[in-house]
Amino acid sequence: MERAEQFFPEKEVISRTLGGVSTFTYREIGKRTRRLASALADLGVNRGDRVGTLAWNHHRHLEAYFAAPGMGAVLHTINIRLSPEHIVYIINNAEDKVLLVDEDVWPLVEKVRDQLKSVEAFIIMTDSQELPDSEDSSLYSYEQLLEKGDERFEFVKDLDENEPAGLCYTSATTGNPKGVVYSHRGIVLHCFALGLADTAGLSEEDRCMPVVPMFHVNAWGLPFAATMLGTTQILPGPQFTPKLLADFIESEKVTITAGVPTIWLGLLNELESGSYDTSSLRAVLCGGSAAPLGMIRAYETKYKIPFLHAYGMTETSPLVTVSKLKSYQADLNEEEKLDVRAKQGLLVPGLEMKVVGEHGEVEWNGEDMGELMLRGPWIANEYFRDERSEEAFRDGWLHTGDVVTVDKEGVIKIVDRTKDLIKSGGEWISSVDIENTLMAHEAVFEASVIAVAHPEWQERPVACVVLKEEERDRVSKEDLMAYLKPQFAKWWLPDDIVFLEEIPKTSVGKFLKRSLRDQLKDHLAVK
Ligand code: AMP
Repeated sequence: MERAEQFFPEKEVISRTLGGVSTFTYREIGKRTRRLASALADLGVNRGDRVGTLAWNHHRHLEAYFAAPGMGAVLHTINIRLSPEHIVYIINNAEDKVLLVDEDVWPLVEKVRDQLKSVEAFIIMTDSQELPDSEDSSLYSYEQLLEKGDERFEFVKDLDENEPAGLCYTSATTGNPKGVVYSHRGIVLHCFALGLADTAGLSEEDRCMPVVPMFHVNAWGLPFAATMLGTTQILPGPQFTPKLLADFIESEKVTITAGVPTIWLGLLNELESGSYDTSSLRAVLCGGSAAPLGMIRAYETKYKIPFLHAYGMTETSPLVTVSKLKSYQADLNEEEKLDVRAKQGLLVPGLEMKVVGEHGEVEWNGEDMGELMLRGPWIANEYFRDERSEEAFRDGWLHTGDVVTVDKEGVIKIVDRTKDLIKSGGEWISSVDIENTLMAHEAVFEASVIAVAHPEWQERPVACVVLKEEERDRVSKEDLMAYLKPQFAKWWLPDDIVFLEEIPKTSVGKFLKRSLRDQLKDHLAVK
């Protein structure tokens, strides 16, 4: 933040809130951040205390990103899409002292307020100065606090780089979410990693629009890195639509943007229905779930928008791999290039990996599967106050639960997660491969392939498919089966294809396979 104030005071953060779009310079953001830090100190926030945020992507959230760690406190970003029970658990587990809450999220927090054990003050991030319920002594207006705050507040200078700076909870397969702590050291080194030419190559020249929420792995670290570099930031705010994103890309000349595949599928539909100038884009960073090959192809060939597939997790800050061709792969044909780029990619500098199968580390032959394990300065080494740490962090490695192959170039491909892999008659089937192939079909909008219990083979794949609206009467189960048939071994083909209106999603837009598995658990037994 100090670097942005010093060297890029006139560069801008464009921020959308409920009140509309406003622009702030880094000089202003710096002053406002110091005011916020001083206000938090006045409210009793001390070094090491957790400051929770329940907010969309906007300038106030960005200010909290620097105010809390800058004063030695911990920025705890809370996923507003989780169930109220999980939100209560998270806030109590983290023992948040103060909560910064967007005004449209406040009703959600207000409902569970009595169950929050540690919170002493609620700061409403609203455009209006006055709060409707100003009688309440633990409710504060963000802008009023800033007005009283001190813009010369000094950030802490003697921080140990290993002190915690951030905290973010991630969903577990079952049970309550697990907290991941980010150190100052991890965040800073991760910023450097985002700036490498062979990863996202983020630079001062960019105009960066993180669509991935700031409550999900710090919007992949982009707000931290962009501020460090003096990059222009475009923060799309609450309840955005694909149209709003397309408009922002055009009007703000966005050069790099980031989000999960669901976002890019939506934007693709929007681009198909409207006419937008997207020529400023140099990279659409896509991660969180596998980027379907058909989608990469559509962006690149039809719209000439370069696509960048990356992989990571909450536990890894998140950047782990980025998929780019090596210089000597330039003479591969277009399909071969796409095949490489649809994989998760190469490990970024600074991290170490190993892939362990049933018989130890797997060969890099693109076929042998094993669990990906990681370590490095921005990989967590435990969950916050959680006994489940032992499962995931063993022998100094994070066990990702992601099953991958590594090809001879060292490029990893996720073939599934441990819990999602389909084991049929003792052999693995990759649901991801079948999903990607289905999603490359022109009539398919979304597809998710799950393991369903089978009396003979233990598990068999069933495909859940959402057809594009205009295709719903035209394409049958048999058509899709005939399309898959030549592309897979017979035993890989789904036992059934179920058409759905929508695939249930997690709070961060990933397919909720657990819910599909529950819905269809007796599907093959009944048939
Ligand atoms: P989260 O902590 O919610 O970000 O989830 C991390 C998990 O999402 C990883 O362990 C992977 O299973 C999955 N994931 C993230 N990025 C990708 C990707 N590019 N392709 C496939 N799966 C991914």
